[in-house]
Amino acid sequence: MKKATKFLTMTLAMVMTVCTLTACGGGAAKGNTITFGTNAEFPPFEYVTSNGVIGEYDGIDMVIAKQIAESNGMTATMENMEFDSLLVALQNGQIDAVIAGMTATDERRETVDFSTPYYTATQVMIVREDSDITSATDMADKKICVLQGYTGEICVQNMGYTYEAFKKGTEAVMELVNGKCDVVVIDSATAQKYVGDNEGLKIVEDPSAFESEEYAIAVQKGNTELLDKINSAIDKMLADGTINELAVKYTEEVTAE
Ligand code: GLN
Repeated sequence: MKKATKFLTMTLAMVMTVCTLTACGGGAAKGNTITFGTNAEFPPFEYVTSNGVIGEYDGIDMVIAKQIAESNGMTATMENMEFDSLLVALQNGQIDAVIAGMTATDERRETVDFSTPYYTATQVMIVREDSDITSATDMADKKICVLQGYTGEICVQNMGYTYEAFKKGTEAVMELVNGKCDVVVIDSATAQKYVGDNEGLKIVEDPSAFESEEYAIAVQKGNTELLDKINSAIDKMLADGTINELAVKYTEEVTAE
């Protein structure tokens, strides 16, 4: 190869490398990557593990995120942050989408757009096995724990009860196990997981007090391009039973650990 040609080839290779690196530099919907945000403290939907589906993260949502990206010929990356910070990070463009067992509420719809719902849940009460709580009104004179920014907190707030808010489900459940609080209000599938993992706890349901909630993926308002990609993948995973299978698999697996 002539010297000049070789130089040109090398220069071209370097320019291409720089372009590729820039395209992968995070931020909103760049190149071939969807940057999702989550809060990996919400089993069976997202949790940290040694051998995850996306990096160190595993769970139902992680498999869904990966499939959304792959079915659109893209790659999924995951940023783990506090639940409270997710919608702000989305609005700032730090992440492209939020997948976090997030309930599509009217209040959240004011600031973001939601995908087709992919899972139905409800708030439940975790109590100790000897508890006399049988309905939501029984919480009136009890010490209540919730998770900060979760829909469970909003429910308890709307009921007019005082409560203590925690950042991690495991912390709230420890308070309950140690007798420092009487009830934890949290999403149903996650509650099942905590009851499976800890001796002496049970779940109390009260459908008259807690409405059903639908989990959906959030994108920036007006980002129809990404929303269409997400929805087409979700529609397919709902139709072919993938999401149902994942729910069964991860509920059993995580509880059995
Ligand atoms: N579904 C609840 C909410 O949207 C909790 C979600 C979560 O903690 N990941 O607030």
